[in-house]
Amino acid sequence: MKQFKSINPFDGEILNQYSVISGDEAIKRVESNHRAFTDFQKVSYNERSHRLEKLSELLKNNKEELALTMTQEMGKPISQAIAEVEKCAWVCDYYAQNGDDFLSDDTIKTDASNSFVKHEPLGSILAIMPWNFPYWQFFRFAAPNVMAGNGLLLKHAPNIQGCAEHIIELFKAAGFDPDYCQNLPVDVSDVESIIEHKAVQGVTLTGSTGAGSAVASIAGKNIKKTVLELGGSNPFIVMEDADLDVALEKAWIGRMQNTGQSCIAAKRFIVHEKHVDDFIDGFLSKLMGTQVENPEDNESFIGPMARIDLAEELENQMKKSVEMGAQLIHGGNRTDAHFQPALLANVKPGMPVFDEETFGPLASVTTFKTEQEALELANRTDYGLGASVISKNPERHVSLLREIQGGAVFFNEIVKSDPRLPFGGTHKSGYGRELAKEGILEFTNQKVIYFA
Ligand code: NAP
Repeated sequence: MKQFKSINPFDGEILNQYSVISGDEAIKRVESNHRAFTDFQKVSYNERSHRLEKLSELLKNNKEELALTMTQEMGKPISQAIAEVEKCAWVCDYYAQNGDDFLSDDTIKTDASNSFVKHEPLGSILAIMPWNFPYWQFFRFAAPNVMAGNGLLLKHAPNIQGCAEHIIELFKAAGFDPDYCQNLPVDVSDVESIIEHKAVQGVTLTGSTGAGSAVASIAGKNIKKTVLELGGSNPFIVMEDADLDVALEKAWIGRMQNTGQSCIAAKRFIVHEKHVDDFIDGFLSKLMGTQVENPEDNESFIGPMARIDLAEELENQMKKSVEMGAQLIHGGNRTDAHFQPALLANVKPGMPVFDEETFGPLASVTTFKTEQEALELANRTDYGLGASVISKNPERHVSLLREIQGGAVFFNEIVKSDPRLPFGGTHKSGYGRELAKEGILEFTNQKVIYFA
């Protein structure tokens, strides 16, 4: 029987192995999930809120243990792993408090004596998830969908099955039917038959653009709704009127947290020529004191990358860009999954680190002279997740903000997700929204009720 292996990327130790289930077993789980979904319709909003509060309490009470599994399976520094678990508790609390209101009927005045829209659940929703935020990616989907009443099916990344098992246990411990939130540790080749099953009424995928395209094609063929949260290559524009201290502080966190493995990380630093030398010097001084540390140490900030192949890919993007004229200022040495955080200057469109998503601790700097040039560089990407703009006078750049492609523009701040704000992208970063009111409505049927 095929096994998924959890391998600690810090030292290469095999932590555990998990049996991959067959396609037939996956379908049995889908069917039992459908039964649990049907029963869950009778559960009141009040009770759904209580269960989310219970989940939140369990997340908070077990955060160290949950975080340690994540740290060991994918290398996230432990303090950031604990923060991720706490954020999952926040999104549960947020929807426990607001979900009922978001889902209340919308009365609409028409010729009818009474007409309104109800927001009804669709069925079992398949969540195909990546390894970089093993709990958060799932909980930001799950919390609103518990309130909406959908069944939850999880196909998680193979390298973090310990985290996937924790998620299932948390739902059971919070009082959910054991079949309500199901783990599907399947081979990718079995995903098609799961999506085809009539109990499955929607698919959300967080992952690469290639995976999103493959899954959306299957879902489209079967007329199933999809939400796609895909890759990004966020520009981070340091304007002529920027405060350089703010720029450096935000640039550092925006690029390096989670060891650079975030879809919304600042990936392309587009810096006004007036600041570029100081920006490079300032970033370099932060880099000089930074190395890959044991992510289980409380003080660690940069861990190993999650897998060796991911570190190799980043190294290749860097080397090809240097061959094309980029200047390696510092870092970039690699041993296994340990990638020394790096800074590249003189980066131009056409180089892999500009044109492709760089999923790791590598910052690339491109210089601009005029605001129009900054805008053209920012939009010279297939992606459209978000952008940061650093300026002392944000109101001067309002027209530029409207023209930047993507799902978010953050002024003097890194792009970040917040349960209260809708999250999602445009272009090859995907479509649909998670979080806030928009996120809870994605997998609901807006049913019109009309009394003549
Ligand atoms: P990935 O390789 O696309 O994998 C993501 C998930 O999709 C995994 O569970 C994977 O399973 C599955 N998958 C891949 N190909 C599939 C297919 N043809 N059919 C069905 N399932 C398939 O991405 P990753 O390397 O784990 O994650 C990094 C990517 O995710 C980056 O591009 C990042 O920007 C993006 N991301 C986006 C967001 C967002 O909110 N927009 C958030 C985080 C990450 P297998 O591993 O078994 O193939």
